Amino acid sequence: MENLKNKYDIIADYHTHTVYSHGKGTVEENVLKAIELGLKTIAITDHGPHHFIYGVSEDNLFKQAKEVISLREKYPNINILTGVEANIKGLGGEYDIREDMRHELDIVLCGFHKPVWGDKMSDYTNLFFNSYSKLLYKPTKNQIKKNTSAYISLIKKQPIDIISHIGYHLAVDTSEVAKAAYDHGVAIEVSTRHDDCTPADYEGLFASKCMITVNSDAHKVESIGVIDRALKVLDEYSVDPARVINSSYCHFDFKCKK
Ligand SMILES: [Zn+2]
Ligand SMILES: [Zn+2]
Repeated sequence: MENLKNKYDIIADYHTHTVYSHGKGTVEENVLKAIELGLKTIAITDHGPHHFIYGVSEDNLFKQAKEVISLREKYPNINILTGVEANIKGLGGEYDIREDMRHELDIVLCGFHKPVWGDKMSDYTNLFFNSYSKLLYKPTKNQIKKNTSAYISLIKKQPIDIISHIGYHLAVDTSEVAKAAYDHGVAIEVSTRHDDCTPADYEGLFASKCMITVNSDAHKVESIGVIDRALKVLDEYSVDPARVINSSYCHFDFKCKK
């Protein structure tokens, strides 16, 4: 695995959780682990406010952002990004981050999580129902079409940087999502923590030229920087390191400060 880490020259983990949501480590413990691993950048990305089990309130997101600013002074040799893993909420690409909050952040991930209420009943009966019904039967073409369209609207409407764990709990046409991601400068995460993509999903994803990201999605300190499964996927599909935003070979523009 060290070979793959060297091949991709991984210098950043852009998806980690802390005690602010349901992670086990404090922000500082996550940072210290990243320093120990020799990473150049770590992002703190707890769940967005509308996740009704683990979501971080807006007040606490601001508080966390301030904590990150003080940790930057204490640990100047690592780049600490304050961020969030927002929730996609509806068929129209709605998410749960207010514009003023976004400007306090450095990085915004967005993914599908079941414990979120949509704004409208139709969001619930489509997106969320599709996710639950996936457990009972194979998603229909029509369901996949709706899910894909929701993700594409999200990418077009919201200034996000990363789609987290694509395919997790919600089937999409990865090639269509990846095309939109490429057009709008959004990276798509190949998850280490969740393994819901089929070989066809990966083929669709990598067929486009969109940026890719591999992160730990760590919920405990020891998992930070652990991306073995995702790296194996990249290697298997011969993904160019220059497309992988965690790699020193890649340059990626985050949108928050724009
Ligand atoms: Zn997630
Ligand atoms: Zn996460």
